[in-house]
Amino acid sequence: MTFNPFETSACENTIHELYHFLDGELTEGRRREIEMHLNQCGPCEDVMRFQEELRRVLRDRCQETVPQDLRDKIAALIHHESKVDEVDR
Ligand SMILES: [Zn+2]
Repeated sequence: MTFNPFETSACENTIHELYHFLDGELTEGRRREIEMHLNQCGPCEDVMRFQEELRRVLRDRCQETVPQDLRDKIAALIHHESKVDEVDR
């Protein structure tokens, strides 16, 4: 599927494929079409920037889903279990 990046409907296509674009799932030709549209179209570029920012925030949050004190507890538990193992042996 291909579209004219200067048509108004290109906006819908661009927004629709933005997820795939950001995931790097598109073919080289498709990426170039969308990049071309984003360069020409302010509103779509704003949406793309927003999606990129949102992804970065979500990614950062995901890495912090386990709080440090919980990590310590888990580490202590694992340490304790390994000690029990040692006693059993
Ligand atoms: Zn657009």
